[in-house]
Amino acid sequence: MPIKLLPKCPVCSEDKIFFDAGETASCHLCGVRFEAYDTCQNGHYVCPMCRQKNTRQAIIAHCLKSPQRQPLPLVLELMELPEVAMHGPEHHLLLAAALLTAYAHEKNKTEDLPKLLDEANVRSLGVPGGACGAWGICGAAVSSGIYMSILTEASPYSEDEWKITGQLTARCGHVISREGGPRCCKRDTFLSLIEATAYSNAVLDTHFDVPDSIVCAFYPNNRECKRTACAFFPVRARE
Ligand SMILES: [Zn+2]
Ligand SMILES: [Zn+2]
Repeated sequence: MPIKLLPKCPVCSEDKIFFDAGETASCHLCGVRFEAYDTCQNGHYVCPMCRQKNTRQAIIAHCLKSPQRQPLPLVLELMELPEVAMHGPEHHLLLAAALLTAYAHEKNKTEDLPKLLDEANVRSLGVPGGACGAWGICGAAVSSGIYMSILTEASPYSEDEWKITGQLTARCGHVISREGGPRCCKRDTFLSLIEATAYSNAVLDTHFDVPDSIVCAFYPNNRECKRTACAFFPVRARE
């Protein structure tokens, strides 16, 4: 797999070129000028807000055409999309979107899926990149909570739904934080997925596979990979 520290250019799919120092550049999509640290080989610069919008549209479009009834294969497909970076706040949508899609297929509620995905997108946009360090709760944990909140229609005023949703977010946050940093959006999504599938089967009567082993294919792209200290690091790469 090629090294994918940043996704390819969202305009022309060319590779990126990195600058040692920031250079003023106009976003090719919104026209606003920013200090840029990369463009593509054709000179396109896309600002973080436009990149995030483009990436989220790609995640939702993939979910809407996917027949997947199981969250893990769909999570892996979404992580492989060229728009999805190794790390980034798109993971705060990615997990909820995969869970909602698998749920909608299992329960024959695909007509609701566009609305469910739109709601997950809006909610997850409120969780910034780096919330793991800044807030003490990983966005991949919140993503499981968003999934559960949407389906149980939890609100600040509900009782059981409020509890069910908070318990899932807390469980995910617990297993993620237990690993210690530095953050990895892949590892943390896998950990949250394992918790969310088991919990969903218990409270929403889904029949999701609860993965007991996931082999990470993304570690070559992660400069901060914990390698043998990560449960998802491939055995074949352990030498
Ligand atoms: Zn380009
Ligand atoms: Zn822009």
